[in-house]
Amino acid sequence: MMDHVSTLLDPLTPVDERPQRRRGRHAYERSPDERVNKLASIPFWLIHALALLGIVLFGFSTKTVVLCIVLFFGRMWFITAGYHRYFAHRSYKTSRFFQFVLAVGGATAAQKGPLWWAGHHRNHHRESDTELDVHSPLRGFWWSHVGWILCDKYDKAPVDRIRDFARYPEIRFIDKYNGVPPWILGVVSFLIAGWAGLTVGFFLSTVLLWHNTFFVNSVAHVFGRRRYATEDTSRNNPLIAITTMGEGWHNNHHYYQASARQGFFWWEIDLTYYGLKALSWVRVVSDLKAPTTAVKYSNWIKDGAFDIGMFKANWARAAAAVANTEPSWGDRMRVRKAHAGEAIVHRREEVTVAMSVKKQALEEFVHDSLESAEELAQLNRRRARDVGLMEP
Ligand SMILES: [Zn+2]
Ligand SMILES: [Zn+2]
Repeated sequence: MMDHVSTLLDPLTPVDERPQRRRGRHAYERSPDERVNKLASIPFWLIHALALLGIVLFGFSTKTVVLCIVLFFGRMWFITAGYHRYFAHRSYKTSRFFQFVLAVGGATAAQKGPLWWAGHHRNHHRESDTELDVHSPLRGFWWSHVGWILCDKYDKAPVDRIRDFARYPEIRFIDKYNGVPPWILGVVSFLIAGWAGLTVGFFLSTVLLWHNTFFVNSVAHVFGRRRYATEDTSRNNPLIAITTMGEGWHNNHHYYQASARQGFFWWEIDLTYYGLKALSWVRVVSDLKAPTTAVKYSNWIKDGAFDIGMFKANWARAAAAVANTEPSWGDRMRVRKAHAGEAIVHRREEVTVAMSVKKQALEEFVHDSLESAEELAQLNRRRARDVGLMEP
C-alpha cells in the first residue's frame, strides 16, 4: 500500500510504473477471452434470417400464427417453470419423472441444456452485478443480452454449481444432447404446416423466445421499478412479466429467489406460477414456496431500506468514469503555469503524469467506497441466505 501511495505522490515516476486501472466504456471491463465467436454465432443469426424470410415468403396464416404462439408460450413455460424456478432455484418439488419432462421441455427452447442454463443462472445470483457476474449490464448491455452466450468462454455447463442435478444420468443425457429436442419440434412443425410452419411457426417463435428470455438479464436489470433493496440492479418490469410469463418481476425474484411465485401481489401477473399452482392441485408438483406477508412487506426502498444495489452500481460507474478521464488541456496549461518558474522542460508526457496524481487519488477514493459497498452487500446476502430467501 505504501509503495502504491509513494508512486502516486511522485509525479515524475514514469506512467508505465504506476498502478493502472483497466480502461473501457463500461463499469466492468471484459477480459480478452470474453469476445463473441463470430463464426460459431452464424447458426444463431441464420435462424433469425430464416424466420424473417418465412414472413416475407409466406406471410401470416391463422395456422402458422397459432403454431407460433403455442410454441412460444408453451416453451416459455418450460424455461421459466423448469430451467429457472425448478433447476436453478429448487423453488418446488416434483417427481423424478416430471423433472425429466421439465428438462426435455426446457431443451426444446434451444437455450442449451438444463445444467448449462441453471448452473450459469446460479452464478448470476451468487455474483449479481459484481465484476464476477457473467451477464451484468454493467459489463455492457449487448453483452448481458446475448454477447456472453455467443462467447466460447461460457460454452460449458458449470457442473460444480449444479451437482444436485448433475447426479441424474437422464439429466446429464439431455444436457449433452440438448440440440435434439428442438430439431424434433422443428420437424413436427414442418409436418403440421410445411415450410411456413417451420419458418414462421418454429423459427420465429424460437427467436422471440430467445430475446424475451434474454430481456430478463438485460432489460430487467436496467428498466423498471425497484421495490426491494437488493444488492443488485434488478427491476420489476410489467411488460417483460407478460412476455416471459412472470419473470419480469425480477426485483421480487432477486429479493426472494427461493420463491416459486414471482408476482407477489394479485396485480403482478405470473402465468408460470398459475400453471404450477394448477399442477399442485393434481399433485404433479408440491411444496411451492411463496412469500409470507411479512417477507412481502419488508425491505421496501420507499420505506427507507438502503438501496445497496444501486449504490454499488453507481460507484462502479463512477470508478469507470474516473478511470477513463484524461487530463484536459486546461489542466495541462495550469500545470505549465505552476511550474513556470522552475527550470524544467515541460514535455507533454510529464504534464500528463503530473495530472494523473489527482486522478489516481480520486480513483483510490472511489475504489475504497466500492469496496465498502461490496462488504455491505455481502452481509446482506448472508442474511438473505440465513432467513431462507436464497436457495440453494
Ligand atoms: Zn437477474
Ligand atoms: Zn433466478
